[in-house]
Order: sequence, then C-alpha cells, then structure tokens
Amino acid sequence: MRQDYDYIIAGMGCAGLSLAVQLKQSKVPFSKILLIDKTPKNTNDRTWCFWTKTEEQWYAPIIHKKWNHLTFAADKTMSFDISPYRYCLIRGIDFYNYCLNELSGDDRFEIVYANILKIKGDGHLAELQTTQTTYTAKLIFNSAIQKVDAKQNHVNFVQHFKGWKVAFEKEVVDAESPVFMDFGIDQKNDCRFVYTIPYSKKVALIEYTGFSNHAISVEEYDAEIMAYIHKKYKDIAYEILEEEQGQIPMFESAFINPFGPKVVNIGTAGNASKASSGYTFYFIQKAVKDIVMQLQNQNDKISLVKKPARFHYYDKVLLDVLNKKEVPAKTVFEKLFQNNKINDLLDFLNEESTVVQDLKIINSLPKKHFIFSGIKKLWC
Ligand SMILES: Cc1cc2nc3c(=O)[nH]c(=O)nc-3n(C[C@H](O)[C@H](O)[C@H](O)COP(=O)(O)OP(=O)(O)OC[C@H]3O[C@@H](n4cnc5c(N)ncnc54)[C@H](O)[C@@H]3O)c2cc1C
Repeated sequence: MRQDYDYIIAGMGCAGLSLAVQLKQSKVPFSKILLIDKTPKNTNDRTWCFWTKTEEQWYAPIIHKKWNHLTFAADKTMSFDISPYRYCLIRGIDFYNYCLNELSGDDRFEIVYANILKIKGDGHLAELQTTQTTYTAKLIFNSAIQKVDAKQNHVNFVQHFKGWKVAFEKEVVDAESPVFMDFGIDQKNDCRFVYTIPYSKKVALIEYTGFSNHAISVEEYDAEIMAYIHKKYKDIAYEILEEEQGQIPMFESAFINPFGPKVVNIGTAGNASKASSGYTFYFIQKAVKDIVMQLQNQNDKISLVKKPARFHYYDKVLLDVLNKKEVPAKTVFEKLFQNNKINDLLDFLNEESTVVQDLKIINSLPKKHFIFSGIKKLWC
C-alpha cells in the first residue's frame, strides 16, 4: 500500500513535534503531513533544561520553571546571576501533551504508530517503509534513524546520567538556583558531577552525571545519588517521586544523511546535540525555526543551519582533553566558571559568542593541555 503526503515527520520526539507545531503555526502551504513514531509519547521520560534570553517562543506556555541564577561547585561554590538569560525547564510530558493537543483537531496532520524500517530520499519522492505500508512525500524530516560516521581517531563520549526527583521532609533546597555542575564528588578518574534542579524548597531533581565512553550500572548511579543526598542534606528524610535516566551523544563524529537529498535530518540525528555538553533542546529549536522559514519561502531544498565550524572544533578539542585525562575535568570546568563572565560562557555554550569572547574563554583554560589537543585536532 502506498500513501502520499506533503511532508513526513519520522520520529515524534523533541525535534519532530517541535517541527510539526511550528509548521501548524506557520504560513507554510501543505495539505497533509504524516507523523510517525514507534511508540506513543505519553510518559514523562525526560526533563529539558536550556538557557535563553528570549522567552517569546512557541514553547513559552509549557516552561514549567525558570531561574535567573545558576550555581557551579567544585573546590568552592560559585553562584551567578545570569540575567538577561533565564535557565528554563520543560517537563517531557508537558511538551508531548502540548504538541499533540496543538495538532489534534487539525486534520492536515495524521499520526501513525509503527516501527520505521527504512527511509529513502534519492528518488523523485522520499519514501518511508513500515512492515505494512510505504509512505511517500516531497520531503521526510528524520529524527528517528541515526547514522554516525564514526572514525577511529574520534572521541565519541556519552553524557550519561540517572536522577531522582525527591521530596525532602524539610525546606533544605535552594529553590532559587539550579546547580549546573557540582564536582564535589569522587571523580573516579573520570568526569563526574551532580546536577540539581530545584522545583521548590523541598523538591529537587538530583542527577548523577558522567561524561565518558560508556554509562555505568543502575546500582552505581543509585548508590552515588544516595551518598550525595546523605552528604549534602545530612539526615533529612526524603521520598523518591520520579526517576530519570538517559544518555546523550557527545560525539566528535558527525551524524550523517546517507538517505538522499529528500531526507532532512533533524534533532540529534541532525547533529543538534552539542558534543561538549550534550545540550540539544535549544539547538533543535534554532534548526527547526530555520527549516520552517525555508519552507515558508516555498523552498523544498532545505539546507540545514550551518553553524560556524569553529564551535565544532572547540568541542573536539575539549573532548580530546577530557579523553586524555592528563588534567582533571573538574579543573577544566572550574577554570571556565571561575575565570570568565557567566554570560560570556553561556553565549559560548549556546554557540552565540563572538570570536573575542571565544578567545577570552580559551585563554582561561589550562594552556599546555589545550594547545596540544588544539594542534592535534586541526588535522584529525
Ligand atoms: C533523559 C534525557 C534528558 C535530557 N535532558 C536534556 C536537557 O535538559 N537539555 C537538553 O538540551 N537536552 C537534553 N536531552 C537531550 C535531547 O534534548 C533529547 O534527547 C531530545 O529528545 C532529542 O530530540 P530528538 O527529536 O532528536 O530525539 P527524540 O526526542 O529521542 O525523538 C526521536 C523519536 O524517534 C522515535 N524512533 C526511533 N526509532 C524509531 C523507529 N525505528 N521507528 C519509529 N520511531 C522511531 C523515538 O521513539 C522517538 O520518539 C535529554 C535527553 C534525555 C534522554
């Protein structure tokens, strides 16, 4: 069986649903869009955090919390006012419900739950195959199938984590300031930190996180979170409300599109996950906005936002330094936070800094290690 659409959105996660909602709210002409995912999005499977200066975004109604402070801790604790930035939190389930609700009632959108077996974009039309059906469209936007061009000399890390959302019996949480990274834990000759998102003075999401080649066992995450809570919050009783676990690619290698010109990769599959931090949400939004602008100009030959190549180079150098472990990750991040203005750093991590800001940040890092990796990564 064959069915035809204007566009197919393969994968109904962050990127797919962001694109669908933005298309609905745009002037892009279309009569039928297919969204396809293997499973319905009906669980709170992730918590997205990001920082932005502009709150007038389509997702503004579902920002669950926002803060104008951030804390970084290593040998000492530093707290920053990040204005005009806001650190924002969106709950996965709110995002999915909001997007699906936006699309329901608009019969131009059709949703199918099926396993995608294959996508192909090198013919007259793009094609997507499930066991039952072949769907065709002018373009497929793919976030479901990821292909990586892995090279032997590349450092491909994962940001791996498990978190507990806990409710304490007493008001012990600093509700005003998320803890971006707390390196005050055993590094285990690795890059390990705890990330804390405060929901209130009693409730926080506490995530044990690593940047490394592989994740660790559930037992190890649980033991580490328990030990951290015990150390930081002493003997205050708490109950676990929710758990969250995941991995985000921090890849030097690129995600590629071997499917052909009528397939456009979005989301992590479209290289939206920042290799040095794992942050993805903000980059997805920038890429999707750009795609919708191109479609609005009736352009079906989409070119993905070309971010300045220097940011990928910086990411590669940092990954190389972390991988070599000659200088502790804790020292690298401590220098970044201690020796720079916080807003320069947040601009830099959002890939919106100027070259002058970049140079100041690079200058704050342990020179010997970064110069060596910097030279090496010019060639490989
Ligand atoms: C637990 C967790 C927390 C995160 N927190 C943050 C954060 O705080 N800030 C941030 O910036 N980033 C965060 N990220 C990283 C990133 O933002 C998310 O991974 C984001 O969901 C990526 O969006 P995506 O659309 O590329 O992929 P996804 O949201 O994973 O969507 C891909 C979709 O494709 C579907 N799919 C896959 N294979 C098939 C198939 N064969 N057939 C049909 N469907 C298929 C999947 O079911 C899924 O729904 C987090 C990631 C995780 C896992």
